[in-house]
Amino acid sequence: MSLNSDKNEKKGAAENSKQPANPNSTQNLEVKNLKINSYEVCPVPTGIFGLDGGAMFGTVPKILWEKTNPADEKNRIQMEARALLLKKPGCNILIDTGNGTDFVAKFGDKLGNKFKDMYNINDSGPSLLKSLQAFGLNPEDIDHVVLTHFHFDHAGGGTTEKNGKLVPTFPKAKYWAQRGNLETAKNPNLRERASYYPANFQPLLDAGVLTLLDGDCENFLPGISALTSNGHTYQQQMIKVSDGTQTLLYCGDVVPTSSHVKTAWLMGYDLQPLVLMEEKQKILTPAADQAWYLFFEHDPYCDSALIERSGHDFAVQKRFWLS
Ligand SMILES: [Zn+2]
Repeated sequence: MSLNSDKNEKKGAAENSKQPANPNSTQNLEVKNLKINSYEVCPVPTGIFGLDGGAMFGTVPKILWEKTNPADEKNRIQMEARALLLKKPGCNILIDTGNGTDFVAKFGDKLGNKFKDMYNINDSGPSLLKSLQAFGLNPEDIDHVVLTHFHFDHAGGGTTEKNGKLVPTFPKAKYWAQRGNLETAKNPNLRERASYYPANFQPLLDAGVLTLLDGDCENFLPGISALTSNGHTYQQQMIKVSDGTQTLLYCGDVVPTSSHVKTAWLMGYDLQPLVLMEEKQKILTPAADQAWYLFFEHDPYCDSALIERSGHDFAVQKRFWLS
């Protein structure tokens, strides 16, 4: 069942025929089964999309980033929108939800139609609901949805159109987000206006399903903690899953792909690059020293990695597919 999702993910990446093959093929990565605090750790691919490679790597020259993230003819690189399911009997927790669907219902005809094209959203492969189904789960089986932040590629799948109305996709779930990030989403600055849409949070507020956290929060769910960051956007939360022996960090957009493990490899989208570099140093130091698994939301070529120190910086030690 879980291997299915792994295969789906690779299939999704391969299906984008306009994309050149990855020169550092990761098809033969070790497939690892991870269980932390009695949660099965299950990657949930929600679909491949494309973003401008230059925007994804900021000041890093293309000659460096294209070695690991080749671009298509429009300079877009492949991106996964990978959610994470933490699954144990009687409790299913979903972290982030991908781009979602229903763009016309959410954004109207003009932007809705343009949206899918602009981000090269490939809906012929895996989707959030199809991937959950591979684990035997329907939307009503999800108990908690944790959103790292309300950017559309993270929160888009959390709401959906039903009978002409936008509603929470997971009808029985309690949703979790940061209060500071919701305030930013409601009043986005000019640079982030194209990333925050009321359709991705207002239906949650209307339904009264959203619980707001104020900053870092230990064990807001059993074994699950929030670590906030302001470098990419205001009050994003990374999600740490730990039982004291094994730890996994869902990095969100703090470390979107394994290529971004290096401190200075930032996205052009990041609002405060220097703040983000400090935050990365702070979080990647224990991650390297204590062998945390980093989980990458946007890397199409692996879903997780162990890292190590490399001088004053960090490097990937080993990449994995989780099963
Ligand atoms: Zn973001």
